[in-house]
Amino acid sequence: MRVLFVATEVAPFAKVGGLADVAAALPRALAELGVEVAVALPKYRGVEGKAELTPHSRFSVPVAGEEKECQVFQGNLPQTSVPVYFLSHDPYFDRAQVYGEGGGDYPDSLERFTFLSRAAVALATQLGIELLHVNDWHTALVPVLLRAGEGPRRMKTVLTIHNLAYQGVFPWEQRTALGLPDRDMAVLKHAGKLNLLKGGILTADLLTTVSPTYAREILERGEGLEGYLRARAGVLVGVLNGVDYTVWNPETDPHLWANYSAQDLAGKAENKRRLQQELRLEVTSDVPLVGMISRLAEQKGFDLVLEAFDRMMALGIQFVLLGTGDPRYEEFFRRTTSRRPQQATALITFSEQWAHRIEAAADIFLMPSRFEPCGLNQLYSLRYGTVPVVRATGGLADTVLDFDPTTGKGNGFSFTDYTPEAMLGALRRAVELYRRDRRAWRELMIRGMREDHSWGASAREYLRLYQRLVGGS
Ligand code: ADP
Repeated sequence: MRVLFVATEVAPFAKVGGLADVAAALPRALAELGVEVAVALPKYRGVEGKAELTPHSRFSVPVAGEEKECQVFQGNLPQTSVPVYFLSHDPYFDRAQVYGEGGGDYPDSLERFTFLSRAAVALATQLGIELLHVNDWHTALVPVLLRAGEGPRRMKTVLTIHNLAYQGVFPWEQRTALGLPDRDMAVLKHAGKLNLLKGGILTADLLTTVSPTYAREILERGEGLEGYLRARAGVLVGVLNGVDYTVWNPETDPHLWANYSAQDLAGKAENKRRLQQELRLEVTSDVPLVGMISRLAEQKGFDLVLEAFDRMMALGIQFVLLGTGDPRYEEFFRRTTSRRPQQATALITFSEQWAHRIEAAADIFLMPSRFEPCGLNQLYSLRYGTVPVVRATGGLADTVLDFDPTTGKGNGFSFTDYTPEAMLGALRRAVELYRRDRRAWRELMIRGMREDHSWGASAREYLRLYQRLVGGS
């Protein structure tokens, strides 16, 4: 079975959020199951430094009434033989960021991702691909293009929705950029606007999203697209994302000050001490350290954190945040943490190294998302012995089970109501257990560390879905 996986982010070449981790790990896991899979993404600025590239092919792609040249370079996913095709058109992709600078998207986003989708179809045709697996709105145009007769008719499509909140919405007048006849445009119209994700939802052969709970939730509250999702509920499947334990493993993680495992937790205490030192927090093992690593977006529950921040601090915790995004949140964390530098600190930057270090050093990981399609950091936290405190929504509800002191079951703490009080309640229960019963806390950590959230099971599920469409393997 020949599959081309297309995404706007693939780690380590380009990463903004969880999509990048999935787009690197899932193809790798599929290849291990014998699927002939390749990956395609834009050739962004700086990719040369991260991959060995060889020229592969070149063709032209019509966008906005002009032929745009696409040069294809080939590399590999690190330490695998999975081919990665970098689709290059410098005016679109040789830029400082993936999606945009200063908060918003680049103004020519529609053209950029029309180019990417059309180039992916052309490449897939050239490679004799049987199934195109596309991701989020940026490539949701692919099944629409195939339906319109671009590329071989028998080519099948899977569209994975990683986050329904981003739909690729543009003024209807901009549709001319697509260069599609009117009859093929109808599926792209929603609420008087052009909506790329809607087009993909209506035309892909199969739809997936990244957790079973989110798959159910979006049929009820689907950001305005629930009607179309319900119409296609028969081909919508929730498959939980996995973790790439070659990248996220405290036993081998090269970013840490000290490695550790469930059998020997000494290294975890060392990471906490070093992080406290480096960030000038009070160096102590008695105070629970709460970590957050996140895009600073409303989705992630920051309104709760802002409202409850003083009360969180009054619980007697330490707090470290790593994140960038909404300037409103950046400003808040800069300001409030500077007032109590020994207790709280904010790293307003994007840093792979600090992400790993915080996972290792923190005692508690806070993820109070308003909604969460899957979420990866709670899974990384489990492996790093960092007890997750989450809101029970989407993938968080599927992976974190509230600790029950009477039965000793559970792997973290969760709350349901989207209120600061509910979040504080869960955090307080975590902090109290940490203080009161270190043995129970340790057992909770170790139980999480022993869980297996690797890609194997989910990749097998994707393979079964592919087989439903294409047959054979
Ligand atoms: P989302 O995709 O919605 O951003 P996920 O939890 O699925 O959320 O994935 C987020 C990924 O991005 C994780 O791998 C996380 O470590 C990473 N990440 C988010 N913000 C930062 C940051 N400031 N620095 C480094 N990594 C970050």
